[in-house]
Amino acid sequence: MSQPDSYYVTTPIYYVNAEPHIGNAYTTVAADVLNRYHKLFGYRSYFLTGTDEHGSKVAESAEKAGLSPQELCDRNSQVFKDSWKKMNIEYDKFIRTTDPEHEEIVRKFIQVLHDKGYIYQGEYSGLYCTGCEKFITDKELTEDGLCPVHLTKPQQVREKNYFFKLSKFLGPLKEKIESGDLEIMPASRRNEVLGLFKQNLDDFSLSRERVKWGVSLPFDESQVTYVWIDALINYISAPKYPDGPDFDRLWNKSTVVHLMAKDILKFHCIYWPAMLMAADVKLPDKIVIHGYLNLDSQKISKSLGNIIKPDDMIGWFGVDASRFLVLNMCAFGSDGDIRIEDFYTKYNSDLANNYGNLVSRTLKMIDRNLDGILPQPSGDDMPEIIKDGYETVGKVRDRLVDVQIKMATDEIIAYLSKLNTYFDEKKPWVLAKEGASNELGKVLYNVSYGIALSSALLSPYLTEKTATVLECLFGKKIPPNVVLQELGHALGFSDKIEIPKENLFPRLSMPKELETKAEAEADNLIGIEDFAKVKLQVAEVKAAEKVPGADKLLKLQLEIGRELRQIVAGIAEYYEPESLLGKKIIVVTNLKPVKLRGIESNGMLLAAQKNKKLTLLTVDSDIPSGAKIS
Ligand SMILES: [Zn+2]
Repeated sequence: MSQPDSYYVTTPIYYVNAEPHIGNAYTTVAADVLNRYHKLFGYRSYFLTGTDEHGSKVAESAEKAGLSPQELCDRNSQVFKDSWKKMNIEYDKFIRTTDPEHEEIVRKFIQVLHDKGYIYQGEYSGLYCTGCEKFITDKELTEDGLCPVHLTKPQQVREKNYFFKLSKFLGPLKEKIESGDLEIMPASRRNEVLGLFKQNLDDFSLSRERVKWGVSLPFDESQVTYVWIDALINYISAPKYPDGPDFDRLWNKSTVVHLMAKDILKFHCIYWPAMLMAADVKLPDKIVIHGYLNLDSQKISKSLGNIIKPDDMIGWFGVDASRFLVLNMCAFGSDGDIRIEDFYTKYNSDLANNYGNLVSRTLKMIDRNLDGILPQPSGDDMPEIIKDGYETVGKVRDRLVDVQIKMATDEIIAYLSKLNTYFDEKKPWVLAKEGASNELGKVLYNVSYGIALSSALLSPYLTEKTATVLECLFGKKIPPNVVLQELGHALGFSDKIEIPKENLFPRLSMPKELETKAEAEADNLIGIEDFAKVKLQVAEVKAAEKVPGADKLLKLQLEIGRELRQIVAGIAEYYEPESLLGKKIIVVTNLKPVKLRGIESNGMLLAAQKNKKLTLLTVDSDIPSGAKIS
């Protein structure tokens, strides 16, 4: 496959009703990194993100907040922009669906579908709450089938809607997905999409009659465009469909890559391409679907309260490392089980040790032993360690063509490990001691070359720190793509190589509470607070008898302080009832009561058991019943 020279990378536009969280930060950093990689390798690349701002939910939130819908959108959209700015995300355009230009293009596009005869009038029927003034899906209803807000029974309502003739495009679309014309990645998601074609995919409604906050249809002003359809059109409204000056270059002549999480696959892989086919517009080239980030094995979501905000990450690790960590904990495309502890481990191994420490000890050595001057290499022989670096550049580029972001990073980290091994084996500190300055210069030149390549390759993540390293090596600000353009040639290092003023990636120890939690998880340990939940007391057996019809059970009457309790225990095979009288045993006294063979049991006695032998736990010296055990 020949390399196209231009890319157009998108994220979904995010619904302004919620705050940015690590899930959409993940998608947006991925798009930003991909965009930067394209540029690093010399391609043209354009990056679009934005916010989705219409629909009844936005209107409701605005009313609650005492704002107009537009005011709410302005405020919340800015929150996304601020958040992305903090994460050093550099988009080419931030689109908002309330941009008048976008709204106009939505109308234009829908008019085209209408003119071509792919939109027809029909009836949409659903459950409608008059209090909420909106349709409610079955999922939203309470157990009794009521509106969750008003606790009233929604009405079955029919409204006039316009439908898109999806059925007409299913066959040709399926072919395009199967042939790879429309590439859906990874393969597991492609199969999932192909599976959808086996279900009943109905024509879908692309308008709403009762919703007011939206883009009205050009051929029926009483209806607004369904918010999802309005949102999808952003991908072509940004480059100004159909005849804006950049539409041809950005959409038709670029490799169009849509990135997203798996929950919106149907809209992007079926509805959107079908609409484009209907309008005779080129389809996107790649739809790349990533999994969810699971924090401690649960999906990150607001309702579970385990949201990590981008700000939290930045506070812990800084911007560069956060960008690196969020994308490289798990393979791009799969669900990732993340524990915050794992972030620390990866930070220390990849960034603090493998990269940061190598840079620091190399540059210090150049400064101390060579007065900051690296000798120009003599002879044409390219050392193996630099050839490995060139190969790494090629591998990283290949991985990125397949949007294998983490695999690409793993190649860079593997190369850094090689550089560290090379450094350790060549023992430049010994060479310095022995005064072997020729050999020392060669070794440090080779390592510095490797560091320059690695820094360029890591620059899409570590935008700030790699710029610092390159500036130290070259004596001036140097764009990372320039380093890669020099492949195969000697690098013109500065004649006074500097040491970074600050430790690039200081080792971090995990905050205490996380450490304790991690240790406990590792050994299946519980905290004292867990143990304290169990109430143990000394009890004296006052009466004991067999339970009729149950070979294993004894019914015991126990005195616990002033209280008398009944417990049923499975010890009949080991103890004669009379032998228990007067014994002082240990009982869990705050268990929920249960019934065994219809007899109530209020607690559990403790016993040790092994190899069909059982013995009751008792106390070592005389102590009154009711004594607490801790
Ligand atoms: Zn309601």
